[in-house]
Amino acid sequence: MPGVDARRVFQTVTALDGLMAAVAAGHALPAVPALGIVAATQAMLTAACLCPRCSLVGPVITRVATREPAIALTFDDGPDAALTPAVLDILAEYDAKASFFCIGTRARRFPDLVRAAAAAGHSIENHSWRHSPRFALFGSRRLAREIDGAQQLLADLCGRPPVCFRAPAGFRNPWLAPLLAERALRYAAWSHRAFDTVDPAPARVLRRVSSGLAPGAVVLLHDGRSARGRRGRPVVETVLPTLLQGLRARGLRAVDLPALLGTAAPARQFPTDRERSPTPRALR
Ligand SMILES: [Zn+2]
Repeated sequence: MPGVDARRVFQTVTALDGLMAAVAAGHALPAVPALGIVAATQAMLTAACLCPRCSLVGPVITRVATREPAIALTFDDGPDAALTPAVLDILAEYDAKASFFCIGTRARRFPDLVRAAAAAGHSIENHSWRHSPRFALFGSRRLAREIDGAQQLLADLCGRPPVCFRAPAGFRNPWLAPLLAERALRYAAWSHRAFDTVDPAPARVLRRVSSGLAPGAVVLLHDGRSARGRRGRPVVETVLPTLLQGLRARGLRAVDLPALLGTAAPARQFPTDRERSPTPRALR
């Protein structure tokens, strides 16, 4: 995208992600003057909505606790007439599986590509009906229309409904989580983000998705709106074979997100406060 400094976008989003993760983990932020508390609260809520991996506005999957040597590959913003078939060919060559978070209007335009991806064993997930840049500003009714439009079409095309949802650019608001819960949809973010729609340099994109890759990771790439490098080649087409070779060399399998979620280790049972420090007998 011309005029966009990919490194600055990456640094800003990463910094906001880190800040909101600290808040979600219960760490205290520096004290603010009393008169600034309301503004700070508003700013924090806004930041939470703009931080794709923050759990303050609802449960979010960023990685999966698993003992399997597997990671989930996810592709957003397709299907695309040229790039989706190329991505499917590369995945088939490496016997890799992925989740395609499809935009409803694009799935309506290229239904055969959605069917082809599903027939090849990939999972098809929900990335909203029209991928509006104002998605996070919508109220409950419009959000429901965005979810349900894509959900119905993708279920009709694939014979099974999506089980995961991802918001455009990962921006949410507090009305989204209840709507997803009513529909038994899980909200999926990522652990590794390529920024492959704004950065055409394969080496940098590859470094972002490879660095610290471990079992349970969720990798975000795009089969739509890919940045284009030399001779107009979509960067994801250059990066994907190298990424899959690297995974193979490290003994990691690429699977779709529902498959990775299916390998999740049972949540560890933590003692409740009451169990940890029982009420003294004398106070009962
Ligand atoms: Zn998107």
